Amino acid sequence: MINIPEEISAGIRIDGNKIYVLNAYRSNPLFLSFKKSYEQVVGSIEVSVKTAEELQSIKIDVGSNSQDGTIDSRIINIYKKIFGTAAARYASDIHIVTYKDGYSNVFFRVNGRLELYQQLSHEEGKSIMRSIYQNITTADVSYLESEYQAGQIHSFDDSNVLPESVSSIRIQRGPILNGYFMVLRFLYAYENQKSHSHAIKIGEILLESKAITDETLNTALRIQDELKNKGQYLKLGDVLVNNRFVSRKIIEDALFKQKGSLELGLKTFREYGYTREQALILTKAARQPQGMVLFSGPTGSGKTTALKKALEFQWMMYPDKAIYTIEDPPEYPIIGAKQLPVLNADTDEKRESKFAEGLRVAMRSDPDILMVGEIRDSATANAAFDAVITGHQMWSTIHAIDVFAILLRLERFGLDKNDLYDEKLLNVLVGQRLLPRLCDNCKKDFNESLLDSDLAEILSVAHSNIKLRNESGCNKCGHTGIQGRVVVAEVLDMTEELIKEIKDYGLAAARRRFEAEGFTMIKHALKRMYAGEVDPKDIISIIGNIEEKHLINFEVEYCGL
Ligand SMILES: [Zn+2]
Repeated sequence: MINIPEEISAGIRIDGNKIYVLNAYRSNPLFLSFKKSYEQVVGSIEVSVKTAEELQSIKIDVGSNSQDGTIDSRIINIYKKIFGTAAARYASDIHIVTYKDGYSNVFFRVNGRLELYQQLSHEEGKSIMRSIYQNITTADVSYLESEYQAGQIHSFDDSNVLPESVSSIRIQRGPILNGYFMVLRFLYAYENQKSHSHAIKIGEILLESKAITDETLNTALRIQDELKNKGQYLKLGDVLVNNRFVSRKIIEDALFKQKGSLELGLKTFREYGYTREQALILTKAARQPQGMVLFSGPTGSGKTTALKKALEFQWMMYPDKAIYTIEDPPEYPIIGAKQLPVLNADTDEKRESKFAEGLRVAMRSDPDILMVGEIRDSATANAAFDAVITGHQMWSTIHAIDVFAILLRLERFGLDKNDLYDEKLLNVLVGQRLLPRLCDNCKKDFNESLLDSDLAEILSVAHSNIKLRNESGCNKCGHTGIQGRVVVAEVLDMTEELIKEIKDYGLAAARRRFEAEGFTMIKHALKRMYAGEVDPKDIISIIGNIEEKHLINFEVEYCGL
């Protein structure tokens, strides 16, 4: 997918290989670089310069037989053309997304990647979704804008909209935060025209073999001739990987992103407050094609913000992946994600497994990456694991006091232990809290008389950098002594080694070892305390008692004092 830079998006409209642009933007560097990347996706393009009024009044071209004037037939012709182009490109899915305050975007999934095909107005997008659902699906229920609905279109239905090669289309539609979406899964009449794989996975296969060899290229060229006889098309430079043809550009993009995503991931997670080691574990998980990452902590521990950061990082690195969230309700917009609100959860009974139901809708909507607001019951836990087992990435939160308590809760939800303790499925567990950050302007130096005597005694061993809150504060902190909050976290990488330990010696033993040797939440808090960022009294009230054993291990391993 090519993203239109936000700064110029109001001055551009796209229709297949035609780009309409405002005169003011025609030589804007952002536009030029967008044009170049778009050209690589659709081949040759045609640029027309328009005035603002002309741009507003552009009706997307719907072909020659669209001139009978009625809105309905215009809309039908638009989606007939979309279907036809998608089938010609062997797209596996079409995603239509519209936002109330913006455009409607039409994406094709080709070779596993989402590509922007066309932009329409919000009203056009809405009319298309309504018309597709109402006029041509087999659904017998009428179109209900703010409900999730599914349907089918069959070639034998005589609706005359399906391209010849397509035998049926499966549809899922519904509301998202600030708009609506519809996903259409194409089922082709011929098996070999299906095209639904994951480009990033293909990139990884190549990474393993280190290079695209001459041999693979030669094989591709040899088979090109065979393909021609079957009426299939292979461009020069396409590469054969696991019996599939992939363009060299897709592979190069995938390789480049893998290189660039490490730096961006580290930056994103470190800026939020995780240590380098923790940020590395989270980035690694975010770059996997599948697996689950769970955040735990009480309300107000920054879990949702962490999820938002993770998803936005992924959207930046992998804009060709479909990201869905299921939230109750969506807390704030997440760039690049389709945010499905949980519907009809007005009674406790219905509330019970509402996330599981939202997850089912998302699973029918051609997702790559999923986020569920919270795993709070067995139905959701099982649905979440099903999503991972079938090759998706899952990010969620769960109520638990620490990372090992997450495993305990999942066991109690009745998950198969073989699934739970599989490093390819459950990747990373995070426990976290937010601590008040001391005001740099007024924090006080360590002073035994300001602390309880036992705490003062423990901390007196190494206190040179410890700072305490100034209760009366200053002008800079609104007389609170506090400036914002910082994350303290423990991040458990579910490695093969750890899983073996849990299986051999049990959860309690693994937890004891982690508490002694691992970088726990309290150690992260102590690290911040020694940096003068947080008050020891806040650590005690939010995380728990500071004991001598924490400090002894801590100094040896992390402070080098
Ligand atoms: Zn202050």
